[in-house]
Formats: sequence, C-alpha cells, structure tokens
Amino acid sequence: MSLVARHAALTDIGRQRQTNEDSLLAAPPLFAVADGMGGARAGEVASRLAIEALDELVRTEAPDAEDAAASLAEAAAEANRRIYAAAGSERALRGMGTTLTALLLRDDRGHLAHVGDSRAYLLREGALTQLTDDHSLVAEMVREGKLTADAAASHPMRSILSRALGTEPDTEVDLLETHLRAGDVLLLCSDGLSGPVPEEKLRKALAGGDPQRAVRRLIDEALRLGGPDNITAVVVRLEAGEGPADASNGKTQVADEPAVTQDPPDSDAAPAEAPGAVAEDDLAAPQADQAGADGSGARRRWWRWAVSRGSAESPA
Ligand code: MG
Repeated sequence: MSLVARHAALTDIGRQRQTNEDSLLAAPPLFAVADGMGGARAGEVASRLAIEALDELVRTEAPDAEDAAASLAEAAAEANRRIYAAAGSERALRGMGTTLTALLLRDDRGHLAHVGDSRAYLLREGALTQLTDDHSLVAEMVREGKLTADAAASHPMRSILSRALGTEPDTEVDLLETHLRAGDVLLLCSDGLSGPVPEEKLRKALAGGDPQRAVRRLIDEALRLGGPDNITAVVVRLEAGEGPADASNGKTQVADEPAVTQDPPDSDAAPAEAPGAVAEDDLAAPQADQAGADGSGARRRWWRWAVSRGSAESPA
C-alpha cells in the first residue's frame, strides 16, 4: 500500500514579539521548522539560512531512501557552516543561531534531522509521542534526573538551548527514522506552540484529522494562552493512496524558491500582515507569511555559554 501525504503549515508572530524569527518549509516530501535567535533581527536570518540550505540540498537533490539521512545530515552541517560564517562576517549577526527540525518522507519512512528545542511529534491511533529530544538546558537536567518535567515547563531558563545550528563551527545533529503507516499524523513545531500548549491539547487538535484545521486550531490555542513567542506548526497526515510507493506521493515538486521570504535584518520593521498562511493538500504551493506587528515582550534569550557547554559534553 502506498502512502500519500496531506499537509498544512502555519506560522504566527504571536502576541508578544515584534518580529517572527521562525521559518518553515512545507514542500513535500520535505518539511521543516526553524526557530532563530540572536540580536536585533539576526534570528530571522539564521532560521532562513537553515531552511534555504535544506531546501537547496535536500529537496532539489531528492535523495533516495537510502541516502535520506545522509542528505539531511549534510544539509544541517552546511546550514551550520553558513550561519556561523554569516555571524562572523557581520556585527549585527554575531552569535545568531537557530533550531532545525526537518522531516523527509521516503517510502514508508520518515527521516528526521533535529537540533534545538523545536519538536517533532507523532500521533498514532490516538496516542501522541514526542519523537525528538529537546536540546535545552532544562531538558538535559530532566534527562539527568535533576529536574522534574513539571518544573522544567515553567523554569525561567527553559528557553536556553544546549545545542543549535550556527553558534559553533560544528554541531551535532540528531538523526532519527520512523516507520509510518496510513493514519499517522506528524507535527513539527516551534516552542512557541509546545511551550504554552499542553500535549493533550496538541493531541486533540491533531486527532481531528484535517491538517488545515489542525494547524489553525494549534496556533489559535497558543494565541489564546498568551502567544508569548512566535508560533509555527507543520502538520502532515499520511493516508493510504494510489501512486508510487512513496509517502511524498511523487507529484509535488512545487517549490522553486524557499517557502519563507523575510526582510533582511537591517531593513525597517516589516508592515503588519495577516498572520499566517496555509499550504494545504499535497499539491499546494508552500507558503508562509512572516508577519511583522507591534508588540513588546522580551526577546528569547540566547546564551552562548550554554551552547558551548552542551557541545563540550558531547563525546568527540
Ligand atoms: Mg521560539
């Protein structure tokens, strides 16, 4: 039996930020979320560079199933190099970085590459599973038994990453592979969704079945809970279908340019736009609005030492 992917993607600036530093890619069979951070608007640049590298190196190369993981790993490494180089070449971009959670569908497999605290979830038969591990200080403390999950959820340092793309010359990327079946629903999201919205609410929104309705409901839920951060959700639903034995459905090479376009970091504030756009069904052109809007609210903190510490702990 073949699998066909239906998807929807939506990003929203949230209620407290002045810029949207999240970027996304929804170009079947490739999907990704990147959550950038850095001074001024450098976070936008970092997340966009990550998505562009992925789009360029994975989507256009269209790797075979056996090359999927290597292709994702190389794209993440190249994104890391590009962001690190850009950060070193311009003062305003210094120290920028980004998360990246990317999904490539091949045959009946989902291949994931992951750095940072954006997340991938799988809903199967009503049960929601987080596929990725957060690379954050508090998540590491939870894994080490030094902090409870409940305490981590409200910890003042919960936004501090232990690993990111672009902050060091090299970075370690988690590669995962998951077997997929008809009825599975995958969610990629930034912490602006998974932070405020409890997993039970995520589960309920995804269980509705329709990706477009799910992303709208997820974003609305995060906004209702205060929208403290930029919110991004990509939902992919796998269905039994005719066609090539490929979850991408083999007919959706539509994106000729990166899905997300953003203002350069030194431009004036972007005009306010309607937040979010939806790319829905497996033939839709990927798109994502990056809304600029008024708002106060603290920018996500980025502590370089935290990343250094995380890298130092990784075995060489
Ligand atoms: Mg965020």
